[in-house]
Amino acid sequence: MFTLHGNGVGSGIAIGSARVVRRPGQDIPSYNIEPADIESEVQRLQEGVRSAISALKKVTSQSPGEGAAEVRSILGAHLLMLEDPMLSHEPVDIIRNRQINAEAALQIHARNLEKIFSEFDDPYLSSKSVDIAQIINRVQGELLDEQGDLDNQPEGSLDGEIIVANDLMPADTIALRRHRIAAFITNLGGPISHTAILARSMKIPAIVGLHGGIRYLRTGDLLIIDGKRGVVLINPDESALETYRRRREKIIRTHQEMDSLIEAEASTLDGIRVSLTSNIELPEEILESVSQNAAGVGLYRTEFMYMNRDSMPDEEEQYEIYTSVLSQTTRPVTIRTLDLGADKQVDGGRVSDSQITNPALGRRAIRLCLHDLSLFKPQLRAIYRSAVHGQVKMMIPMLSNIDELDQLFVLLEEVKQELASQGLDFDSEVPVGGMVEVPAAAIAADLFAARLDFLSIGTNDLIQYTLAIDRIDDEVNYLYDPLHPSILRLIQTTINAGESAGIPVSMCGEMAGDVKYTRVLLGMGLRDFSMDPAVMMEVKHQIRLTDLGQVKPKVGELLRTGDQKKVKQLVDEINA
Ligand code: PEP
Ligand code: MG
Repeated sequence: MFTLHGNGVGSGIAIGSARVVRRPGQDIPSYNIEPADIESEVQRLQEGVRSAISALKKVTSQSPGEGAAEVRSILGAHLLMLEDPMLSHEPVDIIRNRQINAEAALQIHARNLEKIFSEFDDPYLSSKSVDIAQIINRVQGELLDEQGDLDNQPEGSLDGEIIVANDLMPADTIALRRHRIAAFITNLGGPISHTAILARSMKIPAIVGLHGGIRYLRTGDLLIIDGKRGVVLINPDESALETYRRRREKIIRTHQEMDSLIEAEASTLDGIRVSLTSNIELPEEILESVSQNAAGVGLYRTEFMYMNRDSMPDEEEQYEIYTSVLSQTTRPVTIRTLDLGADKQVDGGRVSDSQITNPALGRRAIRLCLHDLSLFKPQLRAIYRSAVHGQVKMMIPMLSNIDELDQLFVLLEEVKQELASQGLDFDSEVPVGGMVEVPAAAIAADLFAARLDFLSIGTNDLIQYTLAIDRIDDEVNYLYDPLHPSILRLIQTTINAGESAGIPVSMCGEMAGDVKYTRVLLGMGLRDFSMDPAVMMEVKHQIRLTDLGQVKPKVGELLRTGDQKKVKQLVDEINA
């Protein structure tokens, strides 16, 4: 048994067998094998070589006829190298002597050859090391492929398994919903990456940011995932299994007990009422929102509708989807307009690999929508049309300039006029709010508040941009700190701006669903929290145990101090 540590997501525990899913260009796994498995590993290697040969033959037969002589000669040379029994001779010895897996043995062989070739003075010979690396990669690719790829798994075939991957994009996570996986773990990613957020909404634990740790895992390993502590136990012994089974039971019982709060008011001990709304990513999640008695949907992330499909959803399809969500609730639904870009690429970021250095600072969300009206207008039309079937609010992500509002309002008028001139039924009074998730918008929150019907604080991006930490970069996620004085000040500025303008301010970033911060936010004056329905009862429980009169002076102190130790002490006291 051994353990790996990363960033835990969700409070659950999962026990299941690992399914290693790999994508090109990743770490080559390296693990020890039992003496009894040596010969089958040797056979695996040889089969890998055979598969690489047939794949290469296929490519060669498909290569274009004219002007491709050079290409065919390179492929022919590669084929000769692959067919040379010497290629697998050395790796077979490495497998037998070091008792390691085939991919790792090939890697060692590749490095040895690379070293020999690099010592030749002759540039022609030294350049041959590239060909060697390519054919060895090819065999490794065949060996890794045999472990399966996410996109091609038949529905339900991953049920109960724990997905192990270098990285999962939000689009992959959506694809995973076709299976009832028990958990997932990744090398990359931070706790507020969209991938982690989706794990929460799938009600499964996940661990992200394992910093290369997955290279020690293989398909079939038994894993325990502790989402709360961020720990993965690999091939645990019976006593660890027993302990974690008991913990899992306890967590399930606690969740069941919390369900008794579904009908209860979200009010503090001193009678302050709080509104708890839900964050949803997919239309079917409205059911979860309703079952938790949420006061409505505070954030509907519509961009997920655009992922894992060949064509964009048109106005009609969007109208149907929004209308079906609205038909399942009598409460307000806040439809956020498209927040595509950065890590939320339509194709999962695999095909149209962006050349942009800082996509999170680039043309995403409202910037992309205002740039591409063929993308934006159908959504706006669908929102206005669906609004006759329920209570709809429209929310704009990633506002940073007042200019964007000028452009937006002109466009909204244009859309309404078009709908009217076409004689279509629509609601022209849909409230329009904006997300405060760029520091510029928080600092100038009063200017935005003067023009909008409501504000919603997106702490995930606000923290990313303010503290300059990429939310999906596992190397810097240790700097993620919602209690950083700058973050608290920006939140306070926004709440105050809303109050002065007489408009509601809510929070829909992950901070709003984390009980560690509930009382701090209440003390700062926040009365509207939007979160994943899975954590709503926990937050409600905390609100119902809060005496705001007692909490407020301590929150005041927290806002004034710059001393990190004091921050910790005050938060402990506030949460005591
Ligand atoms: C946020 O940034 O806090 C937010 C809610 O938006 P998203 O996580 O979808 O970027
Ligand atoms: Mg955001």
